[in-house]
Amino acid sequence: MLERLQSITETANRELESAVGLEAVEALRVKYLGKKGELAGIMSGMGKLAPDERRALGEKANVVKAELETKISAAILRVQEAALEAELKGARIDVTLPGRGRTGGHRHPVSQTLEDICAVFARLGFVVEQGPEIELDWYNFEALNVPADHPARDMQDTFYVDGNTLQASHANPVVLRTHTSPVQIRTMLNQKPPVRAVMPGRVYRKDSDQTHTPMFHQVEGLLVDTKVTFAELKGTLDAFAKAFFGAKSKTRFRPSFFPFTEPSAEVDVSCVFCSGKGCRVCKQTGWLEVLGSGMVHPNVFKHAGYDPSQVTGFAFGMGVERLAMLRYGIDDLRTMFENDYRFVAQF
Ligand SMILES: [Zn+2]
Repeated sequence: MLERLQSITETANRELESAVGLEAVEALRVKYLGKKGELAGIMSGMGKLAPDERRALGEKANVVKAELETKISAAILRVQEAALEAELKGARIDVTLPGRGRTGGHRHPVSQTLEDICAVFARLGFVVEQGPEIELDWYNFEALNVPADHPARDMQDTFYVDGNTLQASHANPVVLRTHTSPVQIRTMLNQKPPVRAVMPGRVYRKDSDQTHTPMFHQVEGLLVDTKVTFAELKGTLDAFAKAFFGAKSKTRFRPSFFPFTEPSAEVDVSCVFCSGKGCRVCKQTGWLEVLGSGMVHPNVFKHAGYDPSQVTGFAFGMGVERLAMLRYGIDDLRTMFENDYRFVAQF
């Protein structure tokens, strides 16, 4: 039987080498490796052999099978190349013809904007951090110095998750995060200062109209070190505005209030539509509100395990859809989520 196996190998090699066309190669594959092929025929006769012989034959048969598979793959390649060459010779392929354009998929303006924002901060030395969208109340509110009676915790704004399956307690309910700020807390709890990170992601609020959707995207930023000042906050965000909206963009900082920063500021950028002259979009003010910011509140540092007498820092947050709308001149937020290809393909 071993001899028969040997002679099969030799014949198969010879036939494969001279095979012309894919069909011929396939026929040889069936002839030798098929269910009723030569190799299977030998294997089926193995039962009659003594155990020693059976093992020797089995091993040899496996080697032959692997060799034949390799040879068949090589033969297929050879046959295909030959066919292509013949086709080129016959000039049936005109290589000078221009290619046919392909309609590919398209990146969504929100994805593009989010990546562009992160890329600007990456150039400023910020790393990207991420956190869960289903979040404990403590990270989403308490640790960020949002007290229990703060209006932001109102059932009107926050989606609460049924806690039974999430080991939540009455004292620590589970929410869909209403902002990306809890990632600040998680990041600080995970590492010692300094911190220089941006945190992009989805956030959820019970809102739905022309300028609000129940889900939207934010990018949060946090920088913590020993002597961080408000001047650095201004410099960083001004650099961002110039990189994102154009080198001629100006910024202005207006006093504001957020529970997690003190002092806090809203940041406006000179209107991208009228360059500050005044138009419908900026309501004739020449300015567009683009983000919120401030110096990290000492209570936030305490909750995150940092010593507020040792470190200072600034934080900021921006809505990605809003920046995308300003950048592309889109006036209805809802078009961002309708997934109409004609809309998406414009960007
Ligand atoms: Zn304007």
